[in-house]
Order: sequence, then structure tokens, then C-alpha cells
Amino acid sequence: MDAQREDSTWLERVIDSDQTQILPLWRNRHPVSSGSQPKVCTRGELGKLLSAQTEQIFLGMDSDNHPWVAVDLSHLAQPPSLAGAEQQTEWFDLRKFGTLLDHASGALLAYARAMVHWNAHHRFCNRCGHPAIMLRAGHQRQCTNSACAHQIYPRIDPAVIMLIHHGDLCLLGRQPQWPAGRHSVLAGYVEPGESLEDAVRREVQEEVGIDIEAIHYHSSQAWPFPSSIMLGFYARAKDLAISLNDNELESAAWFDRDSIRQGSSGLLLPSRDSIAYRLIGDWLDGRIPG
Ligand SMILES: [Zn+2]
Repeated sequence: MDAQREDSTWLERVIDSDQTQILPLWRNRHPVSSGSQPKVCTRGELGKLLSAQTEQIFLGMDSDNHPWVAVDLSHLAQPPSLAGAEQQTEWFDLRKFGTLLDHASGALLAYARAMVHWNAHHRFCNRCGHPAIMLRAGHQRQCTNSACAHQIYPRIDPAVIMLIHHGDLCLLGRQPQWPAGRHSVLAGYVEPGESLEDAVRREVQEEVGIDIEAIHYHSSQAWPFPSSIMLGFYARAKDLAISLNDNELESAAWFDRDSIRQGSSGLLLPSRDSIAYRLIGDWLDGRIPG
């Protein structure tokens, strides 16, 4: 994969092929057909929407040896209508329809979105301000000022997300902008100089004023909104007294298993494809040790 990105002759040939599967994006939105499936375009369908200036980002080859490419159409004033689309397509944010996709499709669209976003936000060198051109089919950019020649690579921002438990209780909070009833586990960004465990401990202390112990890693999930990875943990609370210390949470409370399972008082959990849901589900099913 990395060797393919380095081989510019090979890349130009495969990307130009009629076999290329193209995922267009317009301002962080993907085209979706009325069947809630992401629209994949051919070169012919995009036609004049593709110009010599359109940056094409190579995503990889599929099992049928077709290259997949993402293109950014955000310069257009309106979301384009796609010629050849047999069904009506509309443009949606992945966060609005990701739950309708299987894991592989969701991961592919997330990858396309993250790479398009990264390229769009690194058109200029962050050292000297000169334009930065795309290299390696969108996986690197380089400053055009020869005295600088700074090379820029995609970065991800680590965030921690943690389920805090105490006996038969688990701590859930809600942010004011969430739909009514929605609660989830706590989360926050890792700060420079912190270990992941430090970040988990600090976030819980900052948000609900609780000291924790027995911090363990659970699993992770790419979170390209725009460029994070969520690292999931679980930990035990030393005490139950909640005090909302910063303004991030509207409320936080302890819930027992029965009330979560029954959705008591209109409780709504995060979407099923999220790591937050997996953490809560594993705790409900006893797969997280107390
Ligand atoms: Zn530069």
C-alpha cells in the first residue's frame, strides 16, 4: 500500500482508469442514494466535475483490484447533482447516516472524509505560509518554497472515552446539545505531556469531580470528525459523589443495569456503531470486571 503511494507512474495510470471507484465529497458530505447507500461514482459520471486541478486522493485497491479514490468537490457553490445516478441522491454528513452502514462501508467513508479534510486544511505550509502541493496521492504535502521544503503528513488527535463503574452502577452524562434523553460515557482530548491514563483520570475529575482507580484499556475507534481516534477505557470510581466542575456536561448520574436496559425515564444510549455503546453494552453484559 505505501509502496503504491510512492509509485507516481503506477498511481496516475490506475487513478485514470475507468475501473476507478470514486467517492466524491462536498463540504464533509457524501452523496447518498434513496436506499441510504453511499453513491460510488465512475469517472464518466463525474465528467466535467473533475478537472486537471481536482486533487484525487488514493484510498487503496479493493479485492476486485479496483482502485478507490476520494475527490473533494467543496469548491462548488452547491452540492452537485450526479449524472448517471439512477436514483435521487442527496448529500449527507456521515454522522447522520453512518449507523445505517455496515462496518466496512462506514470505515471507508470515514477514511475518505478524513483524508479529504486533511488535504483541504493543509494547502499552505504551516512553517512559512507558501502553498503546499499534494504528493503521494494525497498522503503527504510539501511546501513549494525551496528554502523551506517542509513535508507535511496527516496527524490524528487522540481522545479518551471511559466507562466509570461502581458496583452495579455506571456513570453516564449528557451534553446540552444532545437529543432529549441521550446519555453517554465521558470523553475528552488527551493533552500534551499526558499518558492516556492521566487523561482519563483528569477528564473524570474535571467533568464530575470523581477520583478513579483500576484504569484499563478496552478498545478503540477511528473518529474522523475531523481527525481523532477514540481510545476506550474503563475504570472504577472511588466514591459516588458527583460534582459538575466544568460546563461541558448538563448533567451526570449513576444508572443501574436494569434502568439502562429498560431505558427508564426516557434514557437513550449512543448509536450502536459507537465505541461508547460498546463500552456500555460490555458493562451491561458483565464483560467489564467490577
Ligand atoms: Zn514552507
